[in-house]
Amino acid sequence: MRPEYREEPCRSALNRVKGMMFNWSLNPYMGCAHQCTFCYVRAFEKRADRPSDDRYGTSIRVKTNVVEVLRRELARKSWRGEVIAIGAATDPYQPAEGRYRLTRGCLEVLAERANPFSIITRGPMVVRDVDVLAEASLRAKVSVTFSVPTLDDRIWRLTEPNTAHPRQRLRALARVREAGVEAGIGMAPILPGLSDRPELMADVVKAARDAGAGFVWTNLLYLRSGTREHFLSNLARDWPELVPTYERLYRARDYLPKSELEPVRREVAELRDRFGIGAERHVPKPPGAIEVSVPQKPPARPPRPAASPPRRRRVPVRQLALELPA
Ligand code: SF4
Repeated sequence: MRPEYREEPCRSALNRVKGMMFNWSLNPYMGCAHQCTFCYVRAFEKRADRPSDDRYGTSIRVKTNVVEVLRRELARKSWRGEVIAIGAATDPYQPAEGRYRLTRGCLEVLAERANPFSIITRGPMVVRDVDVLAEASLRAKVSVTFSVPTLDDRIWRLTEPNTAHPRQRLRALARVREAGVEAGIGMAPILPGLSDRPELMADVVKAARDAGAGFVWTNLLYLRSGTREHFLSNLARDWPELVPTYERLYRARDYLPKSELEPVRREVAELRDRFGIGAERHVPKPPGAIEVSVPQKPPARPPRPAASPPRRRRVPVRQLALELPA
């Protein structure tokens, strides 16, 4: 079913965030047509009395004026130039972006203002904007995280139903890296009994290395009410044999304890070392994320004052064979 798009202007573009590893977020859309079964935004939707079941992602709000509003907010004297996390509550490169180009418009404003930002996405459409990303990263800290929890076809198809194949994301990662932009992967969420198998995690980390990933971080599934009901009903349909395991693991808690987290964390850290994925600078991550790369300074780049005119650098954009969802 094609989603409905509601063109609704916004009053503010930047959202103040508490309890996360970043202070500001930006979401040009609300709702996500990717409809991942594990999406933690379902929990927020339920708290807001909006549908968190199969209807989540069928009605997308398009903030048609978000670019102009962002430009005004960044021009305020009170704005301190903090890092802005793009995509914490919806994918900025979901199919609607192909038509509305709001994420691209926001990136252009951020580049003009030399404001640092990070992007998290499952959408290979990001390669369309590699020219803006390259320009922005000459002026400020910029980082792109591709969510790649698994390369297993069945797990991907059943849990991330409307997303591009994770190998397309990795090809996009390679393009972003070729353009000189910091980028890596978030293996998130790892699903116990499914994507936590060592050979599957090794496949992901090796493929990320081959694509030039600069960092890798991971987290495990957490199941708040809203996400919990939807994920568990899909699990019962697709992997009924795992339902007792999940009932035991997530009984009376949303997050897994350290005893479950640690082995996955160690495994991914060892894989990162084995495949020689370099460590780069700190990247804001969603709650529950576990850092497995050691932050260090990136290669030195000459500082550019915010007020200076943009340095023109042409970045050749090669067309990828993208099979984006309709
Ligand atoms: S891509 Fe991200 S925001 Fe969209 S449904 Fe999946 S987890 Fe949620």
